[in-house]
Amino acid sequence: MTPIATVQRKKTLHDIPSAELAGKRVVVRVDFNVPMNGAEITDDTRIRAALKTIQYLIKNHAKIILLSHLGRPKGTVQESLRLTPIARHLSTLLNQRILKNDDCIGPEVEAPISQLQNGEVILLENTRFHVEETDNNPEFAKKLAQLGDLFVNDAFGVSHRADASISGITNYLPAVAGFLVEEELSILTKVLNTPERPLISIIGGAKISSKFGVLQNILGRVDTLIIGGGMSFTLLKAQGYEIGKSLYEPDLLEAAKTFLENAKKSTTKLILPLDHIVVATFDNNAPQQTVDTENIPKDQMGVDVGPKTIAAIEAEIQTAKTIVWNGPLGVFEMDNFAHGTLEVAHMLAKSDAFTLIGGGDSAAAIAKANVTNQMSYISTGGGATLEFLEGKQLPGITSLQNLENPE
Ligand code: AMP
Repeated sequence: MTPIATVQRKKTLHDIPSAELAGKRVVVRVDFNVPMNGAEITDDTRIRAALKTIQYLIKNHAKIILLSHLGRPKGTVQESLRLTPIARHLSTLLNQRILKNDDCIGPEVEAPISQLQNGEVILLENTRFHVEETDNNPEFAKKLAQLGDLFVNDAFGVSHRADASISGITNYLPAVAGFLVEEELSILTKVLNTPERPLISIIGGAKISSKFGVLQNILGRVDTLIIGGGMSFTLLKAQGYEIGKSLYEPDLLEAAKTFLENAKKSTTKLILPLDHIVVATFDNNAPQQTVDTENIPKDQMGVDVGPKTIAAIEAEIQTAKTIVWNGPLGVFEMDNFAHGTLEVAHMLAKSDAFTLIGGGDSAAAIAKANVTNQMSYISTGGGATLEFLEGKQLPGITSLQNLENPE
């Protein structure tokens, strides 16, 4: 098995003597891309996740310059995507004044930064108001770098993007990982490379195409791989089953067959759904039936896993020491199709295993089951976590300084 690059090889804030931070202008890339309803932040998890780094820098008398994006303004200024409500909320969380600017580069930004006192924090405007951000434009990255003496990446959720404020900036400033990035990497690396076994992975979600890389990378690494949700039907079709009107990606059929062949040869035990909740129309109130995988009617679609599948998953969870979960096992947004996903969330909550939840919809499912606090770790990255589990190098991580003498 190829080991994944470990975080110990990258410098983190811990590797900088704290006394050296006093008076330093530290540019911190955070991921404040929070869900908003107008000016109201509906979930502040990502803001809270960056507090540890920010508080540490405040305590050590640095001058803190925060960069973030919000939404997808695609290079235009959009009033609804300004970071002003986020600055206000951050101020409440930190219990201190947060300065806010209407741009992220230029003289209007440089002036207040030059006035910044030790321990003060300024949040600059949405980096994606400039198209140069996602283009990773070197001039733009250089201008961002000129604002500080040190760069800290604490935006794990965006570290798979080669954006100017994530990776371009590291060409012009010493760059280290913040505490959130350090924690995410050490947990994901441990789970992939040296997990407590048995290690089981439960992967669900809509399309197999979006997670095929993950499935391929973890085959042979995990002891048991359970695949559910819409993505399981392309595999069931590849096994020759009738899948009716269930979600299906014909372009992936051949790859699915190869995957199943590889799974047979690998040490990983593969579990696909044994039974399903099926409906004729994609409607929460449609009449449901429970059918075995061999008996999916032609005019019906699978929208949740059935009781036999849930029991099989429970048996695996009971013996597991580490569990990685990404993606719902059914259309959990519709209450009548959420049973399998919620049952699994409750099983994880009861388990003594180390439970790692891989961002996005799985975190939403855990919240819907009201068991968020009972998970060992919920990754803040959606795409970034998946790409890491795929074994890909993340541009925001590879660009950080290497630790010269890793132990
Ligand atoms: P992903 O973003 O790939 O994790 O996919 C999450 C989505 O998968 C959710 O919106 C679910 O509604 C959807 N999903 C899960 N199971 C099914 C299914 N059997 N049929 C259709 N969509 C599904």
